[in-house]
Amino acid sequence: MAPSRSPLNRRSIAGAMTELLGPDAVETGDEQLKAASVDRFKKYTAVHGIYDGPIPAAILYPGSTAEVAAVLRFAQENLVTVVPRTGGTATEGGLETVIEDSLVVDGSRMNAILSIDPVDMMATAQCGVGLAELEDTLRAQGLTTGHSPQSKPLAQMGGLVATRSIGQFSTLYGGIEDMVVGLESVFPGGQVTRIKNVPRRAAGPDIRHVVIGSEGALCFITEVTVKLFRYQPENNRYFGFLVDEFADGIAALRELITAGYRPSVCRVYSPEDARQHFADFYQGKNVVVLVAEGPARIADATADAIEELFCDRPHERVDGSRIQHWFENLNWGQDQIDAEKAAMLEHSHLGYTTEVSVDWSRVSDLFDAVMGRIRSEFGRAGDLTMLGAHSSHSYQTGTNLYFVYDYTIDASPREEIEVYHKPLNAIIVTEALRMGGSMVHHHGIGKYRTPWTREEHGSAYYLLTGLKHAFDPRGVMNAGTIFPLEPR
Ligand SMILES: Cc1cc2nc3c(=O)[nH]c(=O)nc-3n(C[C@H](O)[C@H](O)[C@H](O)COP(=O)(O)OP(=O)(O)OC[C@H]3O[C@@H](n4cnc5c(N)ncnc54)[C@H](O)[C@@H]3O)c2cc1C
Repeated sequence: MAPSRSPLNRRSIAGAMTELLGPDAVETGDEQLKAASVDRFKKYTAVHGIYDGPIPAAILYPGSTAEVAAVLRFAQENLVTVVPRTGGTATEGGLETVIEDSLVVDGSRMNAILSIDPVDMMATAQCGVGLAELEDTLRAQGLTTGHSPQSKPLAQMGGLVATRSIGQFSTLYGGIEDMVVGLESVFPGGQVTRIKNVPRRAAGPDIRHVVIGSEGALCFITEVTVKLFRYQPENNRYFGFLVDEFADGIAALRELITAGYRPSVCRVYSPEDARQHFADFYQGKNVVVLVAEGPARIADATADAIEELFCDRPHERVDGSRIQHWFENLNWGQDQIDAEKAAMLEHSHLGYTTEVSVDWSRVSDLFDAVMGRIRSEFGRAGDLTMLGAHSSHSYQTGTNLYFVYDYTIDASPREEIEVYHKPLNAIIVTEALRMGGSMVHHHGIGKYRTPWTREEHGSAYYLLTGLKHAFDPRGVMNAGTIFPLEPR
């Protein structure tokens, strides 16, 4: 779909918003607008103070669903592009404002936990509630959502649902798509929709999935209801094993999962990746990490199965307390992000990731193909300081591969994305697609992976574009995200 172009100028757009929401809810400061034009995380140009793309007309902080509806009504009538935002931890360009005079609609002031229901085991939160705050509140009551992405200290409920996020305990609790019971969203034109909370239904297609993973390209999510589980960390059992080959680790995960066990954490790290996390004990090997969790008898049964799994496999054992300690320090808050940005600036060095998924039978092929192609084809392979991968989310039919790559940048800040990130990302994405896998496991398509959206979906791309045409007919929602930006 070609992007819409508003006949209004930025001053009149910002003025209309001030009239609609009041001056406290409208930000037009130069620095804030520039920062809002890019994903805030790891944008190498932004770290150097370079903002080449279109700068939004204003950042809005609505306080209610009615205010979001008023903004989306205005946006549709006046063809103004809207970029929804909550925690601002997007990594794939989803927050980039690629259309002149967009409105960044930030839901972070809609931050009330509306209900916690320990009988029906649900919690309802507005889109701007931080997951960390929700989890802390729930854990104090012996409950948990089971959701724990590494961005937990910063990410908020709206963005977590919009990106189809997944957390470290996914093998037991699932991704956010398994947790959302119901939700409220606002569509272009101001249409408010609420999908009610029921345990299950067979009333037509599951319309929650129109919203979950829509990355701000169809609607603005205002409220989310998620399932709750009992929080019983006292039953957790942590395991670490060193194995010689990455494929050996994958085979162990596959055997455990397909036998029907559901450890909450189920991972294997290649030696290069393991060095970043487990330098003290990895001994140059692949590291398998498993956590048994749940009611005591289930956690114990899972732990027994893990012990049995490694009985006949060559391995070395890692003390579980080291794995537990690592987990307790895994999440990233603003301090870590700021430190990484400072290091990028000082050392012209950047670390990036691309996560994909594939069936069990192709995991080793994909791992070998990506490693081989990057080492032989990538023109700047000499600048790579690290190339590795881990599998961190497993399913009955397959797993994800999360490739990690660090490089020293021997180019100008503006060239970095073209010279390094794009070609590396392209090798991983195209190899995943070639192996019949998905080009994106959990970070979303954003704007960086849109060249492959059609190939990802094949003949089902018809369904995806149908949603865009039906719900965002004038193309005002997060143009260039999920759907490639077409020339006007
Ligand atoms: C250090 C770090 C670690 C991470 N770890 C993980 C991880 O373990 N698992 C994982 O899945 N992801 C991870 N991510 C990616 C990211 O944090 C997640 O995708 C997260 O879900 C984004 O939430 P947010 O509130 O920050 O959203 P934002 O960054 O604000 O937005 C993300 C996308 O969602 C859209 N959006 C935001 N709010 C709304 C709304 N209310 N309605 C409609 N659309 C909206 C935006 O337009 C954008 O496209 C990580 C990112 C970082 C920086």
